[in-house]
Amino acid sequence: MLDDIQKNQIKKESIFGAKNYKPLPVVLERGQGEFLWDVSGNKYLDMMSAYSAVSHGHSHPELVKVVIDQVQKLSVVSRAFYSKSLGDFLEHLVNVVGLDVALPMNTGAEAVETAIKAARKWAYINKGVPQDKAEIIVVDGNFHGRTTTIVSFSSDESYKKDFGPLTPGFVQAKYCSSCTCPIGDCVDSITSIKNLINENTAAILIEPIQGEAGIIVPRQGWLKAVRELCDRTNILLLVDEIQSGLGRTGSMFAFEHEEIKPDGLIVGKALGGGILPVSAFIAKQEIMDNFIPGTHGSTFGGNPLAAAVGKRALELLVEEELIENSKNLGEQLKTGLQSIGSDVIKEVRGRGLWIGVELNQGTKSANDLCMILLDQGILTKETHDNVIRFAPPLMISQANLDWSLEKISQVIKKF
Ligand SMILES: *Cc1c(COP(=O)(O)O)cnc(C)c1O
Repeated sequence: MLDDIQKNQIKKESIFGAKNYKPLPVVLERGQGEFLWDVSGNKYLDMMSAYSAVSHGHSHPELVKVVIDQVQKLSVVSRAFYSKSLGDFLEHLVNVVGLDVALPMNTGAEAVETAIKAARKWAYINKGVPQDKAEIIVVDGNFHGRTTTIVSFSSDESYKKDFGPLTPGFVQAKYCSSCTCPIGDCVDSITSIKNLINENTAAILIEPIQGEAGIIVPRQGWLKAVRELCDRTNILLLVDEIQSGLGRTGSMFAFEHEEIKPDGLIVGKALGGGILPVSAFIAKQEIMDNFIPGTHGSTFGGNPLAAAVGKRALELLVEEELIENSKNLGEQLKTGLQSIGSDVIKEVRGRGLWIGVELNQGTKSANDLCMILLDQGILTKETHDNVIRFAPPLMISQANLDWSLEKISQVIKKF
């Protein structure tokens, strides 16, 4: 129950802050690993991980140490100069991804914007598309951020209504969602993409698993079919792994599940170790070489502090076997949720420690369920009205996962 301190903080945020979010009524003040504490001292298991930004757990001691060491030396110099930690970070990132060159930014949306700019430049310079004619294919249900250009190609009305005039140059194909195609590559979606490709098409931009749309996992084989289509038609495959990447789905990147490689990859969220905004666009040499001095930039992008944290965050995913943990415990979480067997649940889906539970319409909303879980010491949030997401930090222990499954099961059975 909310005490006066929490009530007071909630009131302040709602009076002095814009109301572009609708937070659950809990005022957090401390985090450690997979746990969070509110200002009244109540403890919660975090099954939200800040939309996968906190994969390493809150206040990871190694990352806190990196922050303190680096802050005491140097934090921000801008890209007007070289800095000691940036080269090491970029080298490491490029090797982990398996592409040639990285461009560091801060937030996810900035890295998506970078990918869009890169694809358009590539279309004009490498492919000979007439000026201002480049087209990028996106898919329905996409989420790539909140800038004016990115919301221009969202299929969610509320993301773009009253924010026009919208940026042209994007066309929308079908995603492979709740696909009922009899064969693996999802004919519906692939045909709709194929139909949109013309001589001015620069790229297709997709999430390998759609997070904000409700953890939508396309059929195995779909991404591979998209890759082959791109190869045949000479368009770039841009994969947004801001949420799905860095171990979340049980492999370093979700594209690895289909043994393909994108031409450009977008990462963010967990790259900052749950501490800082760190993002990047990583691509093939010929795409990135079109950026020459003056064509793109960011004051904070690739700053020494972000670079030091980003490099250590990447190392820790491997050193601490967070990816294996995501795979193993994710499997258990999915099986456990599927075995609850309640009428309330329509579908349990996901990969790694990234599970969406879709509720049947007509029952109570996903938000109602989140409120009850909050009361029981589990923090998560709905996406849309009827999907609740379970995405704990990747370092969650077996014991705490078991505890959460027991709790969630109890709550849903009573719901
Ligand atoms: C969160 C997210 C973004 C936007 O990242 P921000 O850091 O909020 O700008 C873009 N794409 C995907 C898939 C995301 O999940």
